[in-house]
Amino acid sequence: MKEMNTAEIRTDILVIGTGPAGSACAALLATYGVEVMVVSKFRWLANTPRAHITNQRTMEVLRDLGREVENEAYLHATAQDLMGENVFCESLAGEEIGRMKSWGKHPLSRAAHHLASPSRMNDLPQTFMEPILYATACGRGAQGRMSTEYLRHEQDADGVTATLRDRLSGREYQVRAKYLVGADGGNSLVAEHIGTPIEGRMGVGGSMNILFRADLSRYVAHRPSVLYWVMQPGADVGGIGMGLVRMVRPWNEWLIVWGYDISEPPPEMSPEFTAGVVRQLVGDPELEMEIVSSSIWTVHNAYATEMRKGRVFIMGDAAHRHPPSNGLGSNTSIQDAYNLAWKLAAVLRGEAGEKLLESYTAERAPVARQIVTRANQSIAEFGPIFDALGMDGGDDIEKIRASMDARCDPGPDGEKQRAALRDAIAFKKYEFDAHGVEMNHRYRSSAVVADGKPEPEFERDAELHYQPTTWPGARLPHVWVYERDTGARVSTLDLCGGGRFTLFTGIGGEAWLEAAESLGGPLGLSLRCRVIGPRRGHVDHVGDWARAREISDTGCLLVRPDQHVAWRCEKMVEDPRGELERVLRAVLSR
Ligand SMILES: Cc1cc2nc3c(=O)[nH]c(=O)nc-3n(C[C@H](O)[C@H](O)[C@H](O)COP(=O)(O)OP(=O)(O)OC[C@H]3O[C@@H](n4cnc5c(N)ncnc54)[C@H](O)[C@@H]3O)c2cc1C
Repeated sequence: MKEMNTAEIRTDILVIGTGPAGSACAALLATYGVEVMVVSKFRWLANTPRAHITNQRTMEVLRDLGREVENEAYLHATAQDLMGENVFCESLAGEEIGRMKSWGKHPLSRAAHHLASPSRMNDLPQTFMEPILYATACGRGAQGRMSTEYLRHEQDADGVTATLRDRLSGREYQVRAKYLVGADGGNSLVAEHIGTPIEGRMGVGGSMNILFRADLSRYVAHRPSVLYWVMQPGADVGGIGMGLVRMVRPWNEWLIVWGYDISEPPPEMSPEFTAGVVRQLVGDPELEMEIVSSSIWTVHNAYATEMRKGRVFIMGDAAHRHPPSNGLGSNTSIQDAYNLAWKLAAVLRGEAGEKLLESYTAERAPVARQIVTRANQSIAEFGPIFDALGMDGGDDIEKIRASMDARCDPGPDGEKQRAALRDAIAFKKYEFDAHGVEMNHRYRSSAVVADGKPEPEFERDAELHYQPTTWPGARLPHVWVYERDTGARVSTLDLCGGGRFTLFTGIGGEAWLEAAESLGGPLGLSLRCRVIGPRRGHVDHVGDWARAREISDTGCLLVRPDQHVAWRCEKMVEDPRGELERVLRAVLSR
C-alpha cells in the first residue's frame, strides 16, 4: 500500500491537538502503555487562560492519572473556598445588586460535593491545565511534536495515513497510525475531513476577551469569587449573557468577557478601547492596569451527532462547540478522552473487538448535546435578571438607572421587583451550581450490560443534584472505605480505574473472584478484584459502601477502566464464571 510505504513515522495513535482533550488523551494512552504521538500546530500550549472551572469528575480523571497529577493541579489552582461568591453588580467599584453562592460554596452544596467525590472542584486556568496534562503525556512516553500542523488524512482497512507539516522547516511528511484522534478544537479540520454531522448553529453571539493585570483586591477581598457579573447598558448584547470580570489569578490577573452584536462588524481592539472597557466594568476611571492580550471570539451552539468515522475519532471542542457558561468546555473535553482512551487501548491490546469503539459515539454524543444545550440555555437564563432590573436592550442610561433604583422603593411594586430579582439570581444555580450536569452521566451502549432493573429515577432535579447509583452505565459511586492492613481511607474510585476492569464483591462473593481469575487467561484480560468486608482487603467500617452498592454481599459490580459500571449482579448465581464471561464478551465486543 502506497501510504504505508511512504509513511515515515509509525505509531498506534496519532492525536491532533494539545488542548485539554488532546493532552488528556495522550496522557491516558501513554499511561496505559500505548504508543501515541500528539501534535499541535502552535509552538506553545494554551497561551491564554480560557477554560478554568475544573469540576470534580475531571479531577477524578487527573486522580486516576496519579495522585501526583491531581496534586499538581491543586497546587496551581484557586481553591474552591475562593470561588463561590458569585456577584452581580453595577461594576466592581459600584453597587452590588445580588449574589448567589456558587460552585459548591453553599454549605448544602459543599456537603453534596464532599459526599460525591474524593476530588475537589477548583479553578485551574487552561494555561496550567494543559502543561500538567502534556507533561504527564510526554513524561510517560508520548511523542509530542509542536509546530506541527495536520493537513489531511486517508484511511483504509488497517490504519490512517496523516499528512503533517513541520512549521519550522515547511516540510510535509506522513504518519501512519492505527487510529487518528482529532482533538483540534472548535474549527476542527479532522471533523471537517470526516464529514462529522454537526447539529445546531455556529456563530450565535459575538464576544471579546480582555486579559489584564491589576490589583483589584480592594473590590473583592470581602466577597471572593471567580466571576463578577456586571450589569451595565450593553451588558445584555451578545457575549455570554452579561458582562463579566473573571478572576484568573487571585487577585491581580483578570479576564473581561464583553459581548458585541454579531450582526455588526467586531469592534477594533485598540489599547484605548480595551482599557476603556476594563475601566468601565471595574468602575474605576483611574485604574492602573496592564493589558496582556485581547481577542474576539464567537459563541457557538453546535454539537456532533457522530464522533467517529472508521478509524478516526473527534473529541473536545471538535465535537461540542458552545459558550463557556457552566464551565463545561475543558471538563467535557478531558472526559471525552477518558471515555475513548481505554477503549482504544483495549482494542490495540486485543482485549476487545473493534465494535467496542462504536460505544464512544453512543456514550459521548448525548453528553455533547446535553452540555451544548445547557451552556446556551444558561445564557438565556440571564434574561429574567435583566427583566427584573428593567434592562430591555436599550442604552438609555437614565431609564435603566431609574428602573434599577425602583427596586429600592417601598411599596408593593418595589417588593415585587426585589422578589423577581432574588428569584432570577437564585435561578442561576443551573449555571453556577449544577452539580448534576457535572456528575450524573449515565451511559447506554454496547459497552454496558443491563441487569434488568429499571433506571433509577432522579429524586431531585437531575441538573442540580448528583444522584449516585450503581445502575449499569453510571459512574461508580464514591464512598470512603478503609484498608484493612493500614486503616488508610481509600475512595472506591481509587480501587478501580488505571486502565483496568475491576470486579467488586463482598463476603460470600469469592466465587466471582475465582471466575475472574480463571477467565483472565482465556480472555487475555487482567481483571482486578476487590473484596470489601470485615477482614477482607478493604473494610466498610461506616457502612457507606453497603448503602451505596445496590447489591448484596454475594453480588458483584463490574467496573470499567473509566470508573463507569459495566454490569452488576445482585447476588451470587449458579454459574458465576459463565455469567461473567457472557458479560465480558458483550462489553468488550468479543
Ligand atoms: C477565546 C476563547 C475563550 C474561552 N473561554 C473559556 C472559558 O472561560 N471557560 C471555559 O470553560 N471554556 C472556555 N473556552 C473553551 C475552552 O477553552 C475549550 O472548551 C477547550 O479548550 C476545548 O479543548 P480542546 O482540547 O477540545 O480544544 P482546544 O483547546 O481548542 O485545542 C485545540 C488544539 O488543536 C490544535 N490544532 C488545531 N488545528 C490544528 C491543526 N490543523 N494541526 C495541528 N494542531 C491543530 C491547537 O493547536 C490546539 O492544541 C474558550 C475558548 C476560546 C476560543
